[in-house]
Amino acid sequence: MSIIDGKKISAEIREEIKREAAALAAQGTTPGIAVILVGDNPASVSYVTAKERACAETGIRSFMTRMPSETTQKELLSEIERLNADERVHGILVQLPLPKHIDESAVIRAILPEKDVDGFHPVNLGKLLLGDDDAFISCTPAGIMELLRRSGVDPSGKHAVVLGRSNIVGKPVANLLLQKKAGANATVTICHTGTPEAGKFTRKADILIVAAGRPRTVTADMVKPGAVVIDVGVNRMLDSSRKSGFRLVGDVDFEAVSAVASLITPVPGGVGPMTISMLLSNTLKSAKLHAGRQS
Ligand code: NAP
Repeated sequence: MSIIDGKKISAEIREEIKREAAALAAQGTTPGIAVILVGDNPASVSYVTAKERACAETGIRSFMTRMPSETTQKELLSEIERLNADERVHGILVQLPLPKHIDESAVIRAILPEKDVDGFHPVNLGKLLLGDDDAFISCTPAGIMELLRRSGVDPSGKHAVVLGRSNIVGKPVANLLLQKKAGANATVTICHTGTPEAGKFTRKADILIVAAGRPRTVTADMVKPGAVVIDVGVNRMLDSSRKSGFRLVGDVDFEAVSAVASLITPVPGGVGPMTISMLLSNTLKSAKLHAGRQS
C-alpha cells in the first residue's frame, strides 16, 4: 500500500499557481479573491484565515469583508453586488455556513457565475454536468480528481464507487469521474443511505471515494484488494492525549483498509489540503479568463 500525500501534491500545485499568478500580474492582472465572513464561528474563522494565508503565499490578492452575525440578507446581497462590480475581484467566496436567518441558496445565486470560484452556483454545477471547460468546479471534487491525476491513477475503464451524494462532494465528483474526457471516463456507481448493503457495491470498486461524514463507514471487508481509496471525511474524535482534546479521522478505517488498498489518502493530509489549493487555482483561472476578455 502507498499513501497519496495530499500535502505534498498541494504544495506542488501552489508553487505552480505562484509562478502563474506572478506572470499574470506582470501582464497587468493580479488575481484577486474576495472572502466574506458573516459572524464569528471559530471553525469558519480558522478556514478563512487559512485561505487568506494561502492567497498571500501564492501572490493572490485577498479582500476580506467581515460582517456581524446580525447582518441581514439584504446587506449581504448588497455587499455581493458591490464585489460583483469590482474589477479587481476575480473570485467571491462566502464562507458557509451562514447564520440561520440568511438563505444560503439566494446568496450563492447572487454571485456572478464567472466569479463563483467555489463552484456552488447552479450555472457552474450545470456546466460541470455538461463538461464545459470554463466551469468552476467545486474545490473538494476538483481536488479529488487532481489527487488521482497526479498519483498516476487513470479512472478510464475503471469502476468508481462514490459513497455519498451531497451537492458539494458526492454528486459533483461522481459526475466528474463520468465525463467522456482524459482523466475521467469511469463507470460510476453512487451509494447513499438508501442503498441496502453498500458493501456489495464498494467491494467492486477499483476506485472508492468516501464522503459519508461518519467515522469507520468503510471497513476493510468493504474494499477490493488493490483498490484506490480516497477518504474525504473529516470527523472530530475526542482524544484526551491531544492538547486540543480531539483528533481528526476520516470516514474510512484507515489502518485496516490500508492493508487492503493499493493507494489511500490519509486524514488529515489527504483531500483536505487540496481544497484550498483548488480555490486558488479557480481564482487564477477566473483572473486569466478576465484578462482574456479585456485583451
Ligand atoms: P453530507 O452532506 O453529510 O453527505 C453525506 C452523504 O453520505 C449523504 O449523501 C449520505 O446519504 C451518505 N451517507 C452517510 N452515511 C452513509 C452510509 N453509512 N452508507 C452510505 N452512504 C452514507 O456530507 P458532505 O458535505 O458530502 O461531506 C462528507 C464528509 O466529507 C464530511 O466528513 C465532511 O466533513 C467532509 N468534507 C471534507 C472536505 C475537505 O476539504 N476535506 C470538504 C467537504 C466535506 P443520504 O444522502 O442518503 O443522507
